[in-house]
Amino acid sequence: MKQTETKDHSGLAEDFIKDEERVNWHDGALWYIREKRDIASKQIPEWEALREAASQIKNNVISNLHDYLLQFEANLIKNGVKVHWANNADEHNAIVYSILKAKGITEMVKSKSMLTEECHLNEYLEERGIGVINSDLGEYIQQLDNEPPSHIVLPCIHKRKEEIGELFHEHLGTEKGLSDPTLLTRVARKHLRNVFLTRRGALTGVNFAVAETGEYVVCTNEGNADMGAHLSEVQIASMGLEKIIPQKKHLSVFLRLLARSATGQPITIYSSHYKKPREGQEMHLILVDAGRTRQLGRTDFRNSLKCIKCGGCMNTCPVYRKSGGLSYHNTISGPIGAILAPNLDMKKHADLPYASTLCGSCSNVCPVKINIHEQLYKWRQVIVKEGYAANTKALGMKAMAWTLASPEKFSTAGKAGRWFLHNIPFVVNNKFNPWYKQREMPEGPKESFAEWYAKNEK
Ligand code: SF4
Repeated sequence: MKQTETKDHSGLAEDFIKDEERVNWHDGALWYIREKRDIASKQIPEWEALREAASQIKNNVISNLHDYLLQFEANLIKNGVKVHWANNADEHNAIVYSILKAKGITEMVKSKSMLTEECHLNEYLEERGIGVINSDLGEYIQQLDNEPPSHIVLPCIHKRKEEIGELFHEHLGTEKGLSDPTLLTRVARKHLRNVFLTRRGALTGVNFAVAETGEYVVCTNEGNADMGAHLSEVQIASMGLEKIIPQKKHLSVFLRLLARSATGQPITIYSSHYKKPREGQEMHLILVDAGRTRQLGRTDFRNSLKCIKCGGCMNTCPVYRKSGGLSYHNTISGPIGAILAPNLDMKKHADLPYASTLCGSCSNVCPVKINIHEQLYKWRQVIVKEGYAANTKALGMKAMAWTLASPEKFSTAGKAGRWFLHNIPFVVNNKFNPWYKQREMPEGPKESFAEWYAKNEK
């Protein structure tokens, strides 16, 4: 996998924005999807009521997770599905490996599953001699390029069609220079068709798991999850603990919200229900914690577990649109990634809650009403308190707190700042000041507002 983890978000964003043309169409493409989402959401008058219902259902789920999980497990077993529990990524990967090994399977097809990306399952299996092909077209392209997905719904949204053409030429032997999306899709389809027909093992993610019936639902636009699952001898589903919903009727709320929020479609093309293995097939479901119960225990952040992974917060976020998903150096990028990642490793992801303007657009579009921007702000406080903020930032904040605590100090600092800006501006406006790098700085004012007010109040 290509390494992108040596720099922090701002360093990686700096690399991304060097290609101005790419930044502009990346920004435009995501904004186009955000606008489609706006149109689709306004087509149903009860949109806000649906968001509220989804939020309340998920509140119920995260408050009663233990009971719903046990109910779901009991129903899965009744339906003939083998259930496994994994505390972390290693346990999850070891379970998948043991299932495949027991059946002598050396090749597996996998539909989109951010959880398995989070667990680095492909690398784990490949090291042990099991080949994995990602069957979602975007993920397939990313796999060919040995790069993780940059967006949870649109994994290769940051790539030009010419770059994809080049990858296909190199790996699938297409004609050099071929970049027509329809023709490239046909090539991928033909290649994947053969994969589906020959793989004995298939793994899917889970969008919604219904506690009352023990079934789970996988949403795709390509039908790739179905192709893999229907043609395989062994079907495995990996799900995070938070994917539970209590009853089947609740699907009507979430399925309407998910597609509209994700791509502006009224409904995802395939919403496939899986309940029991067909004759001769083995079906396994792995329930994975991997930090979720820790997040559940963090009062200020627990409702991030309501996320249904629609990607809506990414499409609207001005920072995400301009910096690209890979700059977040975490499987889940964008605003939601920035509130999930510090829970997994606070030191490694201390930069992410700062990758936001705190404008609140993410919270406004979130179909399950997660207070994303408030959690980003809250994480900043936790990170500073726990000592994980960058030294320069922590020192700067201390100096600010000291200055702002007294009107005299504030006034003196203002005077000093204005003097520097007028007489030796390079002390402030230099290449070591990151704020100055991309901005034209205004001229310093002649006087402070307090001074102006004192003169003009009458
Ligand atoms: S946080 Fe909300 S908007 Fe963002 S991906 Fe999750 S459900 Fe969608």
